[in-house]
Amino acid sequence: MEPAIERTPRQPRKSVLRIKCPHCGNDSDFLEVADGVILTTRYHQNKDGSFTQEGDESQILGEIKFFCGECNADLSHFHNRFLEMLF
Ligand SMILES: [Zn+2]
Repeated sequence: MEPAIERTPRQPRKSVLRIKCPHCGNDSDFLEVADGVILTTRYHQNKDGSFTQEGDESQILGEIKFFCGECNADLSHFHNRFLEMLF
């Protein structure tokens, strides 16, 4: 039996291009590498001397690069598109 509710097929978003490495064709594994990172983590010391992490105030000062996860080609020109498609 078919369900009575009519299912509207989801329209694929137009002009969605998958990022694909032009060197090796990889389109599934990528690396994001940040330069000049200051890792700052805030801790609170509890009464018993133990510590609890309260926050992460890390800052990226340098460039963020984007690489193919297979052949390590620099794909930084795809990084903005990567960020748009990051959910
Ligand atoms: Zn590649």
